[in-house]
Amino acid sequence: MDLNKYPIERRYIDRRPNVRPGTRLVTGSPAFFVAHDTGNPGATADAHYRYFDRQTERTASAHVFIDDKRILEIIPTGTGADPAERAYHVVRSVKTNNELYGYDANHAALGIELCFGGSIVFAAAYARLVWYLALCCARWDKTPSTHIVSHRQLDPTRKRDIDQALAAGGKTLGDLIRDVTAEMATAVRPAPSMAKLPADVRDHVIVSYIQPARHAALQHGLREEAAHYERLAANVRAAAAGEGLPKSNAQEIIYSWLSPAWFAAKESGRDSSRYNQMANAFRVCAGIPLN
Ligand SMILES: [Zn+2]
Repeated sequence: MDLNKYPIERRYIDRRPNVRPGTRLVTGSPAFFVAHDTGNPGATADAHYRYFDRQTERTASAHVFIDDKRILEIIPTGTGADPAERAYHVVRSVKTNNELYGYDANHAALGIELCFGGSIVFAAAYARLVWYLALCCARWDKTPSTHIVSHRQLDPTRKRDIDQALAAGGKTLGDLIRDVTAEMATAVRPAPSMAKLPADVRDHVIVSYIQPARHAALQHGLREEAAHYERLAANVRAAAAGEGLPKSNAQEIIYSWLSPAWFAAKESGRDSSRYNQMANAFRVCAGIPLN
């Protein structure tokens, strides 16, 4: 998946016993993820940061608030450098979490809140939620269908989130799980990278072919030719760093050095296969089809 699709903002509320006790999760890293919605249509992630930053009466909080503009962590989750801490997002009397996961959600899970309604664009907020959950599952090796649970599933008599906010956007919890699974499977478009030339092949061609050829050119006063071998050595070093090799360079090395060496090895009854292997290594770096 694309680990950098959206930025994660981290703006932590102060440690206070009723919102951010400052203690680590008992599991170290999160064991499961509780999907909530804020139950507060139109209120943004920023609005919830301000609310929980000042809130002193209720014992309640959550780690992350996601709207159509941002993913805002207000209590450390472990997605960044700060280790995951506890938040109070599921009431203590609920036992479903212990039955399902062996832990109290407040001790072992992240509470992830979807902001919705009002001027919050559902599709943009939902896409961020999907990506964030996928990132968490990928990061801690969890399976969306077993490690993401809605608040409603944990506390069905009292709670309707995250299902109610999803429904407002025409989605179900099943859709969310499927979309998170699909997000995890999306391939990141890889940067064009060439196969690296093995370091031993690089060293061998430089020492056995390029350096003697350059030396001979200098001895004959052929400065241009010596400069060519210097460029060739630089290109071979770049190929070993994964930058590819010009085709003409690969052909030169194969015809001027590897082929003669291959024939010489054959004629004297020595193993010639190493020269085939090296020739193929140069071909791969230059994008030349293998024989
Ligand atoms: Zn909730």
